[in-house]
Order: sequence, then structure tokens, then C-alpha cells
Amino acid sequence: MSKEHFSSNPNGNIQIFLSHEMPFKRRHIFAFLLDVAHFKNLLPTIRQCRFVENADNAHLVEWEIDLYGIPLKWIERTEIDRSNFAIAFHSEKGDLKTFEGEWQVIESAEGSSKLQLKVELNLGIPLLSHLVRAELEQRVQKHFKTLMAEIEQAIQGDIYRRNLKKGLVKGYAVLGHHANYEHLMGYFKTMDAETQVPSKEFLLGLFDLSPSHLSCDIKPIHSPAGKEVSGYWITCPFIPAMMEVDLERVFVKVLEACRVAQKMNTGVVALGGFTSIVGEQYGKDIRELVSVPVTTGNTYTAALVVRGVLKAAEKLNVKLDQAKLTIVGGSGDIGSACAKVFSKKVRHLHLIGRNIERLEKTKEMLGDGYAHITVGNDLAEGFTNSDIVIAAASFTSTTIDPKWFKSGAIVCDVGYPKNIAYRLGDRQDLLIFAGGLCWLPSKFELGLKADYGLKHDQILYGCFSEAIVLAMAGRYESYSWGRGKITEEKMDEIYAMGEKHGFKLAPFLITERILSEADFDRVRQFTKVCEKS
Ligand code: NDP
Repeated sequence: MSKEHFSSNPNGNIQIFLSHEMPFKRRHIFAFLLDVAHFKNLLPTIRQCRFVENADNAHLVEWEIDLYGIPLKWIERTEIDRSNFAIAFHSEKGDLKTFEGEWQVIESAEGSSKLQLKVELNLGIPLLSHLVRAELEQRVQKHFKTLMAEIEQAIQGDIYRRNLKKGLVKGYAVLGHHANYEHLMGYFKTMDAETQVPSKEFLLGLFDLSPSHLSCDIKPIHSPAGKEVSGYWITCPFIPAMMEVDLERVFVKVLEACRVAQKMNTGVVALGGFTSIVGEQYGKDIRELVSVPVTTGNTYTAALVVRGVLKAAEKLNVKLDQAKLTIVGGSGDIGSACAKVFSKKVRHLHLIGRNIERLEKTKEMLGDGYAHITVGNDLAEGFTNSDIVIAAASFTSTTIDPKWFKSGAIVCDVGYPKNIAYRLGDRQDLLIFAGGLCWLPSKFELGLKADYGLKHDQILYGCFSEAIVLAMAGRYESYSWGRGKITEEKMDEIYAMGEKHGFKLAPFLITERILSEADFDRVRQFTKVCEKS
């Protein structure tokens, strides 16, 4: 929480005062302030920050910052008053005529302190000063306010790393988000039946303002091997459609959510659904902005998709070496991992995406396997004659029409939100199921009533399950990270790690129903083309 005010004194100087409460002892904050060199990593707007002289109680530091479009340079002399946890500074040389002030850390409540900053500055160009001073004040204030918030996060990161070394971190956290407006509204109604229904635009606007937050604890999962891990459910308040409007805003929410997990000393965080897509693709590496390990969970998800498809093909007597398999989202992280496996097994592998160049790169990466590989961006056409379809595209809303599939096809929908607009009973001649799902060794129980899209309490998304498996194994690491890096070895490794603790492929599930043998019997009569000889 920060407080601020600014004013100008009789000599025309701009004066700014900021105060930021932090949940740390003052010696931690003061020690951080003294090590100026690492300030450069705090904000992209800090271009330079280095010691010119570094004596015990006095430094000379060179600064260069981007004041939101204006480059500002100065060299400042600092004087350290350790007994009062204060650092005074003044510019000896630089763009501003006057730039001076003081940082001070004040003890507040037990275990928390206030970082305070007083700054006084003067442009030194009177004719310009009165034209730009208001804007200059705003920008300097914004710079230091952001810096203080980042100082808090960096100290939190240091504390997390120390706790990790001391063995004090444990468990896991999952980042959840709602699939669409209807899902979000349903959640509000479940939590409070009195909730009124405003316009979609108004509600999404308010939702956009909401920060990421801890929603509830997740009760312990018990492994037959005697292990037990607990977790946290952290909500990122966005729906995938918001990414198309403001990707940076959504990225900030994912970052905030990871920081909540870090503050809770969790061992590993799973970025579920679109949080991983934003977290990986925004252009900044979230792993450099937090100390807590983060995983997309895509390795385990892909391992479960592959096993599910192989099992379905086996049950329906589909001969893979004669089959055509289509992957929607074939250039994506999960899609390309599945492609690695099936390029060695099927006759024809067809990859669909938007960007042909990315699809071609995936094809090149797959090399010469058994399959003849083709790529394309036409959905309906791509499904022609496909015996098996894996739908793993990051559609922001459900897009694929089930009428495009050939009779008797096996269709695995991995997407969240779902890729396929399927209602129970729509096409009796298809085997459609939700892919990438895991069967847990015990119930997945949240501390609140939330609809996360799965109605069975022992079935969970592969991405979340990956974090639980990692926590069970005590492997606090960013296990899955970076598009296209999943290997078959890692898929096998994480699957085996899960098996040790009773995690396995979930039964075939569609909407709210687990498929029965009767469902397989029903589809069997249509799977003539690729039947095992
Ligand atoms: P990526 O961002 O890595 O890949 C997305 C793929 O979808 C890319 O190939 C992309 O192609 C393609 N795509 C996106 N939009 C379209 C479109 N309009 N038409 C055709 N292709 C499109 O995503 P992930 O692999 O990480 O995730 C894929 C899906 O899986 C998501 O829905 C995600 O929420 C879900 N998921 C499910 C899990 C589960 O447990 N079931 C776990 C984790 C994720 P291009 O590059 O050309 O745009």
C-alpha cells in the first residue's frame, strides 16, 4: 500500500513524498536499498544504475532512466545513516538542476515497515518549467511508486529463495480463470444467489479491474505411497476473450497471481489454461519476475492426451499405421508434443493452425518419421477422412462444429475453453472425449464451491495435476516451460512420477458423463475404415 502527495515550495521546486508499507523487517528493506546494482533488474525503465564510487557510508552512483519516453541521466552522491535506516542523496551532475531527497525505512507494526521517500527536483529551465511541471511531477511520482512496488516484490523473491534453501516451501498452487462470460456469471451466482446480472460489458469492465487473488485452500491429496500435499487456488480475473483487447493487462494478472503463490511459500505453481499461454507468449519471461517455480503443466497434459488417444484407438480397433490423425493447434505446445509421438505411429498426420510458417517449422522439427505430414489452416477441410482428431487449439471460444468429423472418428478435445461445440447425444457415431485429464489418488476438494469445468472430484486437468505430482515428488522446478520443448522422455518421466503416487489417465469423460462400454460398442460399428486387420 503506498501513500503519496506532491507540492511545490517557494523556490519552484517540485516536492514529492511517497510511503509504501511492506511486510518485512526494516533491516531487510534497508539492506536491499544499499545494493544499488540490482535496481537495474527491477524496472525496464531503469537503463543504467552503477556505482562510480563505493565507500562504506557514501556512494557515487550513475543513473539513467526512461521517464516514460524522456531519457533522464544524473550522477548522485548518497550518504548512508545506518542508525536511522536512512539514505540521503543529491545529484552532483545531470539533466536536472536540482534532484535530491532521502529514502528512509521506518518500523511500523510487528514485522512490517514503511519505506518512505522524499524527493525535491527542479528542471532549471524556468521558461519550460511552468509548461511541463505537472506532467513531470506525475511521471517522477509514477516512476518511484512503481519502483517501490517492485522493491517489495524483489525482497519477497529473496525471502522465497532463502525459504526454499531452508526447506520451508511446500505444496503447490494452481492459477485458474473462467472460460467465458457465462461461466463467470454462473460462478458469481453459485457463490451468492442474490447476485444481480449487469450488462456483459459492465461486468467484464469490473472484472478487468480486479486483481488476482487467493480464492481458497485446496484440501490435501493423499498418495498411496504415504505422501500428502496441499495447495492453493488462485484466481486470475480474466476470460480468454480479454486477451484480444489487452494482452499486457492479462499478463500482469498472471504475474500478480504467481506473486500471490510466492508469498504463500508454495513449491510450484501451475499456470492453467490460458494463464500459461499469456505467461509464455507475452514477450517477457515470467520466470525472471518471480522466484517461485512455474510450470505450464503441458508435459503431463500431453502425456495424458497421447495415452488417452492410444487407449481409445486400441478399444475401437483402429489400426494406427493406416490412420489419418489431425491435430488442431499442431504448432502449439501440447499439439506439437502429441505430433512428436504420433508422427512415428500414423500413416498421415495433418497439422492445423493459423500461422502456416509455424506449422511448417513444426513439420520440419518432426523430421522424417513414419507419417506423411501435411499442414493447413482450414478447419473443416482438415478433418476430411480423419480417423482421429486431437483438438488442442487456443481458441478463445468454442469453434469446431462436430458435423465436420467423419463418422466413426475418435475426437479428443483438449481445449479450455472447449474447442468443440459438442452437446451430449449430438453425434452418436463419434467417440468424443475430453483429453489431458488425470485420475487423482484422492479427491480434489476446494475450500469453496467453484465450477472449474469438471464434475468429477477425482478427475482433474493435466496442467494442474502436473504441479501436484511435482509437489508429491518434492521437485520444485519449472518443469514445463517454453513452447515446443516437450520431449517424449519428459512425458514418460512425469507420467511415471505420477504413477508412483497413484495418478493415472482419467476414464473417458464427455461433458459430465464417464463413457461406458456401451458407448464404445455404439461407435465400433462406424470405425470400419481403419479397423485392425
Ligand atoms: P499454445 O498457445 O502453445 O498453442 C495453441 C495452438 O492453437 C497453436 O498451434 C495455434 O496456432 C492454434 N490456434 C489458436 N487459434 C487458432 C485458430 N483460430 N485456428 C487454428 N489454430 C489456432 O497453447 P497450448 O498448447 O498451451 O494449449 C492449447 C489448449 O489446451 C488451450 O485451449 C489450453 O487452455 C488447453 N489446455 C488444456 C489442458 C488440460 O488439462 N486439458 C492443460 C493445459 C492447456 P498459431 O500458432 O498458428 O496461432
